[in-house]
Amino acid sequence: MRTVKLLINGQLVNGHKNIDVINPATGKAFMQIPVASEAQALEAVVAAKAAFPGWAATKIEDRQAMLRKLADRLQENAEEFAKVLVLEQGKPLAEATAEVLYAETFLRYFAAFNSSMETIQDDDEMQVEVYRKPLGVVVGIAPWNLPLLIGANKLGPALVTGNTIILKPAPTTSVTSLMLGELAKNIFPAGVINIIADENDLGPILSSHPDVAKVSFTGSTVTGRKVAQTAASSLKRLTLELGGNDAGIVLDDVDVSKIAERIFAGAFMNCGQVCIALKRLYVHENQYDEMCDALANIANNTKVGDGLDNGVKIGPLQNFMQFEKAQKYLGIAARDGKVIAGGAVLDRQGYFIQPTIVRDIDDSSPLVSEEQFAPILPIIKYRDVNDVIKRANNSEYGLGGSVWSSDVIRAKEVASQISTGTVWINHHLHFGPHIPFAGAKQSGLGVEFSKEGISEFTQCSVISVAK
Ligand code: NAD
Repeated sequence: MRTVKLLINGQLVNGHKNIDVINPATGKAFMQIPVASEAQALEAVVAAKAAFPGWAATKIEDRQAMLRKLADRLQENAEEFAKVLVLEQGKPLAEATAEVLYAETFLRYFAAFNSSMETIQDDDEMQVEVYRKPLGVVVGIAPWNLPLLIGANKLGPALVTGNTIILKPAPTTSVTSLMLGELAKNIFPAGVINIIADENDLGPILSSHPDVAKVSFTGSTVTGRKVAQTAASSLKRLTLELGGNDAGIVLDDVDVSKIAERIFAGAFMNCGQVCIALKRLYVHENQYDEMCDALANIANNTKVGDGLDNGVKIGPLQNFMQFEKAQKYLGIAARDGKVIAGGAVLDRQGYFIQPTIVRDIDDSSPLVSEEQFAPILPIIKYRDVNDVIKRANNSEYGLGGSVWSSDVIRAKEVASQISTGTVWINHHLHFGPHIPFAGAKQSGLGVEFSKEGISEFTQCSVISVAK
């Protein structure tokens, strides 16, 4: 197996020690990575601060070209990235390949962004111009479910707008991010991109550092609140993309056979470990039995296993802690509902559980009210649409949600009453670089992607001329 290094101030360096990286399909280490010391994390901040004036003054066309080059290198190395992503994260190869492609596509979209000046008033009275200036040093902190894509989504907007960055992936999934650092080293000036791995200890050091102007954080709501606290003392700009408990509402006019596969995909992609996965499904009583049976049938026919094996659709949970959490929810499923597919741990090494469908369960169960982040879908019966809208909204989270109907106008009427950042109609878990992505309530702060999201990496600055 290859080795990887940290990228600090344009140099690929060792850490203060090495740690094992576990392949969740075996529960055993497949390689080691270096982790940075606190001193190295501080060194990365110093490097990013020193590189900032030069990078901010670099022509936008040159910054864009470098980002495009990074996307090119990623494309050339896509096969290796996808295989390593399977080993470190667990997802099936097809999903890993898609994540690498998405990372490349998102980088290209960000590279096309141009934050040039906008004249918003020019008349006899006044000329008003709006400029978008970089903020300074950005810290990007990522979770373990989509490590490469989420890392790329922090690098791209930060760099194209003229900021420098320190990226810190999650401790269990740092390999592909460090590989991206190897590619970046030969493209960007020293200090512009720094990528370090840790043992879950360096996040607070980075997010509280007085020389950091912005933190772009993706992870759990609990950690997001801590980041907001540490960032408060110097009023850092913040983007927080946090947890979710997306509800799907199936109206009484659907053709179950047409939508069951799509619902299943929305819930079980990446082994259910997606912030915007469908995590609780409300189905009208007229179609409840049919939908439960259809989803149980798909679950029973879905191949679970090592992501590198042919035909595997669902891999393991990403890490042992999450595996234990998923088992707790399996116990809750059996206690609070009726398990009609799956329900057990796979009798093999690695962190596997069967895709699980649970019926006859209600909103009071933690399997419904909490973010389980596991391949377990509770299906809840409802009778009245207004009541189910209230129940879908009765959550501290507000990331995504979906409405399923053969009548789009009716579905839109329901969707408009769902208090989340995104509502999909007749699909779930779709996102793109041009589409704003925002969490409502405790699911986040600010926007990612699109012009709006990229602008969050800039300071709005107005020059107003009296005539
Ligand atoms: P986590 O919050 O435990 O960790 C996320 C990152 O924060 C890791 O890199 C970790 O090392 C770092 N960290 C830990 N403590 C920190 C601190 N005090 N200060 C700064 N950084 C710190 O989350 P996780 O378990 O890795 O990921 C799962 C969670 O992420 C789920 O809740 C999921 O919904 C959420 N998520 C949200 C989105 C989104 O876009 N909304 C996307 C993916 C995942």
